[in-house]
Amino acid sequence: MAGFNVRSVLVTGANRGIGLELVKQFLEKSNPPEWVFATCRDPEGERAQQLKNLVSRHPNLVIVALEATDPASIKAAAARVEEHLKGSGLNLLINNAGIGRNGTLESQTLEGMSLVYTTNVTGPLLVSQAFLPLLKKAAQGSNQKGLSCSKAAIVNMSSEAGSITNLFAWHVGQAIAYRCSKAALNMLTKCQSLGYEGDGILSIAVHPGWVQTDMGGFTAPLTVDASVRGILNVLPTLSEKDNGAFVSWEGKVLPW
Ligand code: NDP
Repeated sequence: MAGFNVRSVLVTGANRGIGLELVKQFLEKSNPPEWVFATCRDPEGERAQQLKNLVSRHPNLVIVALEATDPASIKAAAARVEEHLKGSGLNLLINNAGIGRNGTLESQTLEGMSLVYTTNVTGPLLVSQAFLPLLKKAAQGSNQKGLSCSKAAIVNMSSEAGSITNLFAWHVGQAIAYRCSKAALNMLTKCQSLGYEGDGILSIAVHPGWVQTDMGGFTAPLTVDASVRGILNVLPTLSEKDNGAFVSWEGKVLPW
């Protein structure tokens, strides 16, 4: 991770779980980013307390309100981040916020399907649209050749549960809405890789493993620390040859 020089990074859903740990590990780096933007739905509320505790020790951490299902909130977040960056771009956007649901083929509802799709697919699409000008600015301002996470990148936190080939953890639950949403997020990542390659932006879908968080459950095999350490070791190794790929926290290329 030592060679991973990200000047600015934004993580959505950063008040708990994998998002919070990403923020912590970026801040603890020996060469931390100049700006770490941690977004959450309610920066004033109790759920943001752990982030607020970090701010007192890290002046480079900025907490920004962002509700991934609300286009106005996303636009307001992009405007706030632009203000902080004072003319420079955003290097790394991590679309981490997401929700899971346990619905089966029999029980899944219109409301459940819609909410999960809106949060896990439309959210990352709209967030990427809103931050695109800042990502382009970072790419334009960089003298690095090719594509990389330290130049300009969109990382979509996906799941192997959305892999049509592997269907990770089917025995644990059908989670129909969640699986379909992550399969769609993988397609969005592929489309972004084709659409933004010419702008110098790398697009990647990442499976973080089965992780001990509220979503993964506390009997999951992987600690949040190990998952995020793995992800932060993989990101600096990615380049144009990986654009549009689906990779695991261990750096393995996963099948769609
Ligand atoms: P958690 O449930 O622990 O945290 C989810 C985060 O997303 C919270 O910060 C939550 O905020 C935020 N969030 C949810 N909905 C919205 C929304 N509408 N707008 C803004 N923020 C929102 O999940 P994990 O940390 O485990 O998961 C993070 C990502 O990793 C997700 O995309 C998940 O699908 C993926 N993943 C996780 C796995 C695991 O085993 N844990 C496995 C594979 C993928 P709030 O506190 O306000 O609800």
